[in-house]
Amino acid sequence: MLGFLLVHVAALGVFFVGFSWKGIALCLASYYLRMFAITAGFHRYFSHRTYGLGRVPQFLMAFLGQTAAQRGVLWWASNHRHHHRYSDRPEDIHSPIQRGFWWSHIGWILSHDQDEPDYSRVPDLVRFPELLWLDRHEYVPTFLYAVALYFAFGPVGLFYGYFLSTVLLWHGTFCINSVMHLFGRRVYATTDDSRNSFLLALVTMGEGWHNNHHWAPQSAAQGFHWWEVDASFYLLWLGERLGLVKGLHRRPKHFRAAAVEAMRTGRAFTSVRRLEQVQSLTRRWHELGASARLHAHEALVELDAARAGAAARLEKLHDEAAGLSARAGRRLEELHAEIERARAHLAEILERLVAMAESLGMPDPQPG
Ligand SMILES: [Zn+2]
Ligand SMILES: [Zn+2]
Repeated sequence: MLGFLLVHVAALGVFFVGFSWKGIALCLASYYLRMFAITAGFHRYFSHRTYGLGRVPQFLMAFLGQTAAQRGVLWWASNHRHHHRYSDRPEDIHSPIQRGFWWSHIGWILSHDQDEPDYSRVPDLVRFPELLWLDRHEYVPTFLYAVALYFAFGPVGLFYGYFLSTVLLWHGTFCINSVMHLFGRRVYATTDDSRNSFLLALVTMGEGWHNNHHWAPQSAAQGFHWWEVDASFYLLWLGERLGLVKGLHRRPKHFRAAAVEAMRTGRAFTSVRRLEQVQSLTRRWHELGASARLHAHEALVELDAARAGAAARLEKLHDEAAGLSARAGRRLEELHAEIERARAHLAEILERLVAMAESLGMPDPQPG
């Protein structure tokens, strides 16, 4: 983090050195020399193995790549392989889709999450002890490079050729991780949000054809058409002519047909990842609808059960009431019978009293 800031501050040293055409030329030469080592070396060779190199050129390429101060060659390749495996998914270490522009541009490098390289992702590279040594002494090449520029060209060499050039080289490279997953044209239906940009292809010697690259990472060429300028590939092609480069992987044969197919189905315009998001939302929507219907159905069943229960209870109450009224009727009849019996009994007593009075010669108790 501190080193990163200090190099930015040191790049401002060009204002003290003063304007210099030689400085500008040195800055650009140093930029493109090391950009080549990053794109053709770190990226297309060490990360993707799109061609073969002898052991000495391989070491020189790694050494030159590390003059760009983008940490060790194995660290770089290991993280880049991880990026391709999970591009723009939550595991991706530098996806602007997942964690925003600044994180994908510099945040992930400055964080300590990726301090230790994961050598398990680069078993083919770890077996070279000289690469392992370089990776463990990540800043030795860049330090030697800066010193050499100073001794060769003085302060102009150091501030233009090293500090300013390194800062530009950093941001040029980092733009591939940030800008090229956000802005530009999509041609192929990749599962990430990678895009193509002519401007970035000029700045990064062909890496601006990033959507092409994510579609065909095994190809050493990232520009497929003649107008998709890809300086790294031209130099690799030259290297092949010179016998330095072996087995250079060309663009995929079906690149035109795949682009036409992607355009015809409309899948290139929105990445497959977006499509998956839409599909998953639609699925969720249907699930919600289904679960709502299920709930409504359950509620209806419950309501039915409650209604049946209430009806049964009502019937029972009705029966109870009928029973009660029958009992009351019987009781009433009994009372009537009792009254009748009592009345008959009274009449009998009265008759007997009248008979008794007659026998005693008593006047008729009845008035009148
Ligand atoms: Zn990418
Ligand atoms: Zn790549």
